[in-house]
Amino acid sequence: MAKKGALKASEYLKKWIPFAKMRYVVFAIATIITMVLPWIKVNGNHFILLSFENFKFHFLFIKFDMQELYLMPFLLMLLFVGIFGITVLGGRMFCGWFCPQTIFRVIYRDLIETKILGLRKRISNKQKEPDYSKPINQVKRVIAILMWTVLATIATSNLLWYFVPPEQFFEQIMHPSENGVLFGTLVGTVAFLVYDIIFLKDNFCIYVCPYSRVQSVLYDDDTIMAIYDNTRGGRIYDGHDKTITKESQLAPDDLCTTCESCVTVCPTHIDIRQGLQLECINCLECVDACTTVMAKFNEPSLVNWSSIQEIDVRDRKTNFFRPKIIGYGVILVGLMISLVMMGLEKELMLLNVNKDSRLYDIEKVDGHLRVENSYSILIQNTQNEDHEFYVKVEGNDKIKVGQPSHPFKLKAGEQKKKTLVLYTTNMLAEDMRKDTMLQLKLKAYALDSNDTIKVYRDIRFTYPREDIIQKKMK
Ligand code: SF4
Ligand code: SF4
Repeated sequence: MAKKGALKASEYLKKWIPFAKMRYVVFAIATIITMVLPWIKVNGNHFILLSFENFKFHFLFIKFDMQELYLMPFLLMLLFVGIFGITVLGGRMFCGWFCPQTIFRVIYRDLIETKILGLRKRISNKQKEPDYSKPINQVKRVIAILMWTVLATIATSNLLWYFVPPEQFFEQIMHPSENGVLFGTLVGTVAFLVYDIIFLKDNFCIYVCPYSRVQSVLYDDDTIMAIYDNTRGGRIYDGHDKTITKESQLAPDDLCTTCESCVTVCPTHIDIRQGLQLECINCLECVDACTTVMAKFNEPSLVNWSSIQEIDVRDRKTNFFRPKIIGYGVILVGLMISLVMMGLEKELMLLNVNKDSRLYDIEKVDGHLRVENSYSILIQNTQNEDHEFYVKVEGNDKIKVGQPSHPFKLKAGEQKKKTLVLYTTNMLAEDMRKDTMLQLKLKAYALDSNDTIKVYRDIRFTYPREDIIQKKMK
């Protein structure tokens, strides 16, 4: 930044891209992704969908049943570690650049109220509230509320598509009396958004959002944030007393003009010249404001997106690769690898096997003894298409499947309980005094899936003591 002063104001401003413009691009990209993602399906599965109605969770286009929600803690850890890591690196960057609350406020205050309806004079002055004593402004306000209500309905519908897929959502919302929960959630959330964005405003970020409370403990001297340069601008606030210094009291070489452009532009109504404050959402509008002011004096901005280390301590550059950041990065990569591995190893059908309390049955068939073990099995077709399923024992050709005697069909998502009977006519007893326990691998599979839809379970087969077999043979 130091060399910017060497450029003439006009030259410098030509090269400069305001942070506000960059934020608008980020807002647009985030909005498009959020709106489009629920519509994309691969093999009938969504990128992310938590369907309470169907007890399904889709992640990375893989469908999980609610019983398989072991992924959830990993996703939550990913979210929290990600936000903590971003905070250590860039302060409340999430708030200023990605949070829906900020995006919605920019749409309502800067686009609807200021640009479209002219209720506010300039985007650069967010402190001055519109004058609602004028009848024309009252009419405009009603229009603004209506416009925002429409947008809030679209935004809420978009949010709900992550719980009720769009194709289902539109069908259900046309019949509100049959889908009271969905309709109520839509209306309730829209009402909250109208109250929040129009009446609560940026006070949500200052007083309600818990994130602002935890973020300060995560900061260190290398955290980048909007920061005023006391050394160049002059100390405006006197330590903890926060006594404002009048322009006349500034030293001759102090650059701050006390124009307050950085203050009036601030959406959370703070003066960045007082130092780090919990209310700062890192939107960097104050940096843009001071850059414009200082460019007229061919000087770089007094408010910068930088760190305490670089602006106040000044003994080295900001260290982006400090141990804390590397630690967060390693944890994030580890969590992401675990999630992808779990996704790839996900079983494509469900199988639960429980052995019956009866150890075995012995029958004499055509002079041979037949030993049977019975199990209860629950098979679920978790795919989006119907399939035909069957079971077999792998790795032991002396144990056969007696029941179910034929493959059976399961519709998409259907589950069925079956009795599984395994039997052998071979002599497998190994001991006179105790039963023989055989460890088997049971495979359940879809016959029409080229061996892709299959699961294995370890089960036990109990073969009676040798003396019992001998007695039965007589
Ligand atoms: S001080 Fe205000 S304008 Fe500057 S980054 Fe923080 S919230 Fe934005
Ligand atoms: S915009 Fe810059 S010059 Fe104006 S008051 Fe803020 S810090 Fe001072």
